Amino acid sequence: RVVVGTKVDMNHVNWVTAYNMLTGIRFTVSRTNAKIDRELANADFDAKHKFSFDITGNELTPSAKYDFKFKDYAPWVFRHLRAKFQLDPADYLMSLTSKYILSELGSPGKSGSFFYFSRDYKYIIKTIHHAEHKLLRKILREYYAHVERYPNTLISQFYGLHRVKIPYGRKTHFVVMNNLFPPHRDIHQTFDLKGSTIGRNYKEEDLERNPRATLKDLNWLRRNNHFEFGPEKKSLFIEQMKRDVALLQRLKIMDYSLLVGIHDLERGNEENLRDKTLQVFQPGGDGTAEPQVNMLTRTPSKLENARQARQLRQIIKKEKPVPMDKSTSKMPDEMLEERKNFIFYSDDGGFRATHENSQPGEEIYYLGIIDCLTHYGFVKRAEHFWKGMSSDSSLISPIPPEGYGDRFVKFISGITMTKEEQERQAQSGDLL
Ligand code: ATP
Ligand code: CA
Ligand code: CA
Repeated sequence: RVVVGTKVDMNHVNWVTAYNMLTGIRFTVSRTNAKIDRELANADFDAKHKFSFDITGNELTPSAKYDFKFKDYAPWVFRHLRAKFQLDPADYLMSLTSKYILSELGSPGKSGSFFYFSRDYKYIIKTIHHAEHKLLRKILREYYAHVERYPNTLISQFYGLHRVKIPYGRKTHFVVMNNLFPPHRDIHQTFDLKGSTIGRNYKEEDLERNPRATLKDLNWLRRNNHFEFGPEKKSLFIEQMKRDVALLQRLKIMDYSLLVGIHDLERGNEENLRDKTLQVFQPGGDGTAEPQVNMLTRTPSKLENARQARQLRQIIKKEKPVPMDKSTSKMPDEMLEERKNFIFYSDDGGFRATHENSQPGEEIYYLGIIDCLTHYGFVKRAEHFWKGMSSDSSLISPIPPEGYGDRFVKFISGITMTKEEQERQAQSGDLL
């Protein structure tokens, strides 16, 4: 997959912050994991623990490269959430801390948040605003209950909430969550859908310069795109979306979107492009650099091994070896192992299109509801007031949470239909 972003090495402006984030995560997560599991108590949801790191170390914390303070929020709740999302505790730590290598997606939104991918691309660290941080703490009980009731929720999976601060520096709050997009598949098109049309257009002419840009609602409609799910998948998807939106409405949350990555199986992975753009994440020369780990050379070689092993098994069984089709070749399974049991992430990390007769379709959708920590506060109300004066208030994005959610569900449901349904619709349209 074409990796977006720049590696965060010693020369990167956010190197110290990234290093401190990972050091803090490693320490606090191992600290909680080391204890014997127990049931959650009410107080766990409000818990917070503060740690001081310095270069010499002290009886509580090990020595670190820099002086900083780290705050860990509701560690037991997140431990249980990680278990509900079936993450392997050791694996989580490995991904986030075994080497201090992240890549940064240069502030993709207007909000000023920073995004970092773990080196294996499974997790995203997003810096969040203080208001979002407060909101997550406030809704944590409801979020937890929702995940417990609906483990297949499409809402972002939160794995941790923390804060870092360097001396005389500002406080940086951040969450760790699932990367919806797979490490091993090219995403051919990306959309961020809200169900609104105003301001929801990415200029098509800019696509030439930036072919991997995130497109919006109007671009989706212009392409006449659909989620091509047969009746069964369609109802699973829409039912879950409705439950998720109902929660967000109840919590007075808005401005979220459905993030959609589309992998076209016929195009498969454009290996050449991959080779050029997948990066070697490698910390800079401070003497602690680890042996170079190249995600690129490592994964295909595993794939090769798997392919050879399969062919060998087939030869041994005296069967005709089935030629491996690029599009169906599975990458290292462990990458997706923990997501296999979740309906919407079970087809190679995503949710595969189907035809009406339940035959698999040509696309895999990687999707989820993201950016779910904006409360309908007075800022939004002010915005609504001003924008509402000039245009139809049901079309603009900042409408109250009830309306926002209803419009979202209506839009997404309206674009969910099989190829066959679309054809029938087009035909009956022609007849009219
Ligand atoms: P704004 O508030 O201006 O919309 P933001 O900083 O809150 O921006 P998000 O909307 O959360 O940012 O995300 C911005 C982009 O980052 C998304 O369009 C997507 O490309 C990427 N992104 C965010 N969350 C995920 C995720 N869980 N998996 C994969 N990509 C993600
Ligand atoms: Ca957003
Ligand atoms: Ca946001």
